[in-house]
Amino acid sequence: MKRVVIAIGGNAIIRNGQKGTTEEQLSNIQTCCTQIADLAQSGYQVILTHGNGPQVGNIVIQNDMAKPVIPESPLDICDAATQGSLGYLLARTLSNALKERNLTTKVATILTQVIVDPDDPAFSHPSKFIGPFFTKEEALEIEKTQGFLMKEDSDRGYRRVVPSPYPQKLVELEAIQDLASLGYTLIIAGGGGIPVINETGRLTGIEAVIDKDFTSSLVAENLKADAFVILTEVSKAAIHYNQPNMQWLDQMNVDDCKRYLAQGEFPDGSMKPKVQAALNFVEHTKKEAVITSLSCLIPALQGTDGTHIHP
Ligand code: ADP
Ligand code: MG
Repeated sequence: MKRVVIAIGGNAIIRNGQKGTTEEQLSNIQTCCTQIADLAQSGYQVILTHGNGPQVGNIVIQNDMAKPVIPESPLDICDAATQGSLGYLLARTLSNALKERNLTTKVATILTQVIVDPDDPAFSHPSKFIGPFFTKEEALEIEKTQGFLMKEDSDRGYRRVVPSPYPQKLVELEAIQDLASLGYTLIIAGGGGIPVINETGRLTGIEAVIDKDFTSSLVAENLKADAFVILTEVSKAAIHYNQPNMQWLDQMNVDDCKRYLAQGEFPDGSMKPKVQAALNFVEHTKKEAVITSLSCLIPALQGTDGTHIHP
C-alpha cells in the first residue's frame, strides 16, 4: 500500500474573501475529503496534516475582544484549539466519506506537540500570517492601537504576523508511527503542531505558529511516505507571481527550486515554505512532492495538474 502525506492549507479551508463560517469551512473540507476517500479506495494510506493561519488568527481576535470578561489564552493554547476544531471537522467528514465507500479504514486524530528551538531567529523576525486580511489603512490603525505587527500577504491584503520557528521533532512521533503501521488514516500535526521547547527534559509551551508546510515535510520523511502533497488555494506555484509575465509551473527539479528560491520568486509565509518543504522532502527521500489546490488532489497525483517537484 502506498503512503501519502497530504497537507491541507488553512487558507484553503477559509479562502480569501470568505468569512470563515463553519458552513464555508465544512464545504471546503468536504471537497478534499471526497477526493481523499477516493484515494483511500484506490489503495493509498493517507496521513493528513493541516494549517491554521486564518483559524488561529480568528481565535486570537475572539480572545482579544473577550478580554474584559474572559482571560486571554497564549498562542500555543490557541494552536491546540485549532487542532481540536479542524481535526474534528476533518475526522468527521473523512470518516463519513470512507463509510459511503464501504471502507473500514479507521480514522484517528492525534494532538501533536512539536519541539522548536527557543533561540530560533524566527522569534525576532515574525513571518507567519494569521487571521483575516485588512486594508493598508486598517493595518496601520491595528499596529498603532493594538501593537500587532502587520505585513502584506501576496497582494491579498495586510495580516498580522507572528513568529514561526522551525519544527525540530514531533513529540508524539512513536504513537503516530505505531498507528500508521496498523493502517490508520491519521490527522496529525494540525497548525504545524503545538510549539513547545524542551529544556532539560521538561516541555514548555511557547507562543508561536509553526508553518505546517515544514512540519508536514518532517512528517512525510519520518513516516517514509511515498509521496507528499501540499494543498492550497492555487493549483500551481508560479514564477513572476501576479506579474504580467506570470508563468505557472508544471514541474521543477531540485536545481530549479533552489534557483527560484534564490531569485525570491516565492514569498515568506506563503509559497516559500511550501517550495522549501517540498524541496526538503525530495532531496532527503528522492521521491516526488506536489503543490496543488484542494480540488485538484486526484489529477495532481495522476500527474495532470499541480506543480511537481522531482529529484
Ligand atoms: P496555505 O494556508 O495553503 O498555506 P498560504 O497563503 O500560506 O496558504 O500560501 C498560498 C498562497 O501563496 C497562494 O494562495 C497565493 O496567493 C500565494 N502565492 C505567493 N506567491 C506565489 C507564487 N509564486 N505562486 C503561487 N502562489 C503564490
Ligand atoms: Mg501557509
